Parts: sequence; C-alpha cells; structure tokens
Amino acid sequence: MEINLVSDTVTKPSQEMLRYMFQAQVGDDVYKQDPTVNALQDKVAEMFGMEAAMFFPSGTMANQTAIKLHTQPGEQLIADKWAHVFNYEGGGVSFNSGVSCCLLDGNRGMITAAQVAGAVNLPEFYHSPLTSLVCVENTTNKGGGACYDINELVKIKQVCQQNNLKFHLDGARLWNALVVTKENPKSYGQIFDTISVCLSKGLGAPIGSLLVSDRATIDRALRVRKILGGGMRQVGYLAAAGIYALDNNIARLAEDHRRAKELGAALSKLSWVEKVEPIETNILIFEVRKGLDDNLLIAKLKERNIHISAMGHGKLRIVTHLDYREVMHSYVLETLERIGTK
Ligand SMILES: *Cc1c(COP(=O)(O)O)cnc(C)c1O
Repeated sequence: MEINLVSDTVTKPSQEMLRYMFQAQVGDDVYKQDPTVNALQDKVAEMFGMEAAMFFPSGTMANQTAIKLHTQPGEQLIADKWAHVFNYEGGGVSFNSGVSCCLLDGNRGMITAAQVAGAVNLPEFYHSPLTSLVCVENTTNKGGGACYDINELVKIKQVCQQNNLKFHLDGARLWNALVVTKENPKSYGQIFDTISVCLSKGLGAPIGSLLVSDRATIDRALRVRKILGGGMRQVGYLAAAGIYALDNNIARLAEDHRRAKELGAALSKLSWVEKVEPIETNILIFEVRKGLDDNLLIAKLKERNIHISAMGHGKLRIVTHLDYREVMHSYVLETLERIGTK
C-alpha cells in the first residue's frame, strides 16, 4: 500500500467514475458539438450564477487565458508573492501576455484590499506599467490551503471597480473553501470577472478545469484557448469525469479536511516538530526542529510507503485527498508517532 500525500492531483478515477466516462455521448468540441462538454460547461456556469463556462485541459491554461483576456502587453497584474500564476505556470504571464507582476507580501498567500489599493499604478503616471488586473487564489496553494474571508474579496472588488481593474480568481481549490465556509458559489460569481476551477485536484477527475465568466468574455476565450492549443475534439469522455466529480465528490472534501486536521494535531504533539501551520482545508505545512534533517524524515517515511514533499526552508507539506482512505490515515498517524519516539 503506497500512500501518496504529495498532492491532491495524484488521485485515480474510481470504477464508478470510469463507468460514467465510458457512457458519455461525445462529438467534436472544436465545433462546439460535444454534448457532454456542453453539459459540463452549462452546469458549472449555473453553479456560479454566471453566463458561460469553458472546458480547459489544465488550470494553468484557464488562468493564462484569463490573464490574456484581461490585459495588454506591457501592463501589470497584482498578485500575492506566492501566487500560482506567477510561480508555477512556467513564466506564462510574460510569455503569453507580455505582462509584469506586482507581487504583494500577503498573509499565507492572501492579500488585502488595502494592499491592492496601495499597489495600483495611477493611469496618468505613464512612466509605470498600467495596472489592469488583480489575481487572487482561494484556497491558497503555497499559503497552506488558507481560505479568504469573502468580505475582504468584496473590498478588493471595490478597489478594482474604483481603478478600472479586472478581478480574476484562481479557484483551483475553491471547492475546498466552499465546503469549509458553506458559502454559495453564486456569491463568488458576483465578485469576479473570471473564475478558474479545477476538476483534477480534490474532486478526483483525471483532467480538466473550467473558466467561468460572462458570455462575451467566454466567446473571446475560445480564440485564446485555440491559440494555446487547447481546442479538443471528442473530449466528452473527460468532461463526463468532471460531471461525475461535481455530483459526487464535493461534500466529501470535508473528510480530507478532517484528516488533515487530525494529522496536524498528531504532529504538533511530537517532540521533533517545531511548528504546524494553521490547517483550514486539505493542505498541511509543518517544520521540523532546527538541526533535524527534513530530507531524512522524508526518506524514513518513504521506507514506510508514505510520501510527503519538502517545500524548502525546512518546510514540509502533506496534502490529503480522495484516494487517502481511513485505513491509510490510521497507519500514517501510527507511523508518525513511532518515528517520533526514536
Ligand atoms: C493546481 C493549481 C492550478 C492549475 O494547475 P494545473 O496543473 O495546470 O491544472 C492553478 N492554481 C493553483 C492554485 C493550483 O493549485
């Protein structure tokens, strides 16, 4: 039994999901003729109370498309210093859009309206890049799965409106935030110009993300997706996995959150653990005591078939997910304690 806690992207489709995928009706989605893709897009647009949605092969492509749609070359976007769009999308912001990033020193990956207001370059000051977009992440990835207070997002939206900026949500793990806060996705639809969501993280689909927005923006997104090579053909088989995931795997994210919290509580009692960061969702970041070798701990866990990852600077990361089941959880809890007594 291998236990992979490196990421929530490691899940494999269940038998039920595979059966559902095989039964999908498909067509050529480049001609907008795949009924299952169309159904998925309508379903997600409906969930957010927005006009339209578009299926993408990856979250990166959905985010990059949004950035392209909201900016012109030479302009600048505002994001947290740990933002996925800046750190983990291969430099796509500059490659695809010719845009620079003004990075803010947020709290666990989250920025405030006051910080955004202070970072906007005044349009009349033509020496500086024109600020045109704000990107936030919910939950935050490198911030350890932290959830925004929606009131802060409303305030950032007001700053955007006052300064004529677009507002994009990288909602790769928005489902986790919605489960914790019990908020309605429609509240998010009212705040943002565009939202990207992933099906292939906690929801357990093998592939897929969507970009959600108004009709005109999604119509323009079609060309950008084509340029990026994301126009796909009989992709309803994959969209079906997404529909299955949305219908079956959202509420159960609460289990992932419970297990992450239990792991955090167990770790915080161990003598070799320096610090466990606050756990809100399915991501757990902790540090071992100074002088201890975090790579040795990773190796010791690996010998016991448990895989976790290092984030650098002595930080370690555990991510719980759909394929991390209760028997594995008990075994990991026991193993952590046993390693700790040595
Ligand atoms: C995973 C992730 C994405 C998208 O990643 P892909 O691997 O391209 O699907 C975007 N933003 C955040 C915060 C993520 O964690």
